[in-house]
Amino acid sequence: MKKRVVVLGATGSIGESTLRVARALPNRIEIVGISGGQNVQRLLEIAREFPAARICTGDELGAATLRSELPGREVLHEADGLETLASTPEADLVLVAIVGTAGLKPALRALETDKDLAVASKEILVMAGEQVMATAERMGGRVLPVDSEHNAVFQCLEGQDLSAVKRLILTCSGGPFRKASAADLAMVTPEQALRHPTWSMGRKISIDSATLFNKGLEMIEARWLFNIPMEKIDVVIHPQSIVHSMVEFVDGSIMAQMSSTDMALPIQYALTYPDRYAGPCAPLDLASVRRLDFEEPRTDLFPALELARRAGTAGGTLPAVLNAANESAVEAFLAGRLSFIGIWESVDRAMNEVPFVQHPSLDELIEADHAARSIVVR
Ligand code: NDP
Ligand code: MG
Repeated sequence: MKKRVVVLGATGSIGESTLRVARALPNRIEIVGISGGQNVQRLLEIAREFPAARICTGDELGAATLRSELPGREVLHEADGLETLASTPEADLVLVAIVGTAGLKPALRALETDKDLAVASKEILVMAGEQVMATAERMGGRVLPVDSEHNAVFQCLEGQDLSAVKRLILTCSGGPFRKASAADLAMVTPEQALRHPTWSMGRKISIDSATLFNKGLEMIEARWLFNIPMEKIDVVIHPQSIVHSMVEFVDGSIMAQMSSTDMALPIQYALTYPDRYAGPCAPLDLASVRRLDFEEPRTDLFPALELARRAGTAGGTLPAVLNAANESAVEAFLAGRLSFIGIWESVDRAMNEVPFVQHPSLDELIEADHAARSIVVR
């Protein structure tokens, strides 16, 4: 059977890998919707390649350009357009790969209109994991992880009883500053931070990988996806990025998932779950990798993991505050308005200053998100 898929964020790094999977599996995957933000030219090319897809672009100007280039095609735009696209009646699954939290409402719409959700945008589970998982449960929809670590855990947990899980071990490359000193970290430029040693990704997640906030967000993401307490989620540094994550069981057994460093594999598994097919991901040759290293994260120099553990343990509005403050601080860092270590300081400050709500509504989460951003830019 063919899966009919809407790709939100088709013009981005995950979006491009998703299209690569779709091209490799034309009998299994049909692209029925695509969205982009500001890159209208790339969206136009993708729309031509996938003529059955509904289209949504970032603004009205982009929509006018696309309409004139693609007469007769439906073109939606902005936040309302994304929600309409996410509720496309003929879709089976919506993959959310929009950077940041703009994908939250479309993700909820997808579940509310009886679709499965494949989540790449970790920010939406960090901000509103409880709401997203509760909506999935109410509607009977699946939430399938695309992030490589969570996809690995998902594969390791297949057929296992959650009560037999001792802990999840998320692997982390350590980013470009794995061996840096405190003095080095004080001098980091955006250009250095954007250079990831093992993965090629969008700008926001590349900076998050350098600060280790990416791993912090992933700890919280795992907490919701697998309904597991924060104290059972650990991180280990693994510079080769071959073991994508592990699950330790109560009997001492550890299951690991390994594959090449290519997002096509977790994307494909989420799209074709529970089936496996030969796809575009190159096979892994362990003999040429030769060694797999593991080490403790340096939490003293990289406070992101402890901040995330604090936010994930407290719950309520704190993860949304951490996420929004981080998003805003990354923008400021990339614009040259904030130092690299200023990202951690800004998040810590926002977590201390924004009033805490233990059981927030969606509106209260959005309010906490805005309050955190205004503290960072202040
Ligand atoms: P990119 O920056 O490469 O792509 C982001 C996509 O979102 C683009 O299509 C962009 O459109 C679109 N977009 C950005 N802002 C908006 C907005 N306000 N409204 C609508 N569309 C918007 O990011 P990545 O693909 O790297 O990452 C996407 C998500 O997946 C992130 O949440 C990231 O954390 C997560 N992720 C990424 C991984 C990776 O390997 N890249 C791995 C695991 C998770 P346009 O470019 O046209 O403006
Ligand atoms: Mg990841």
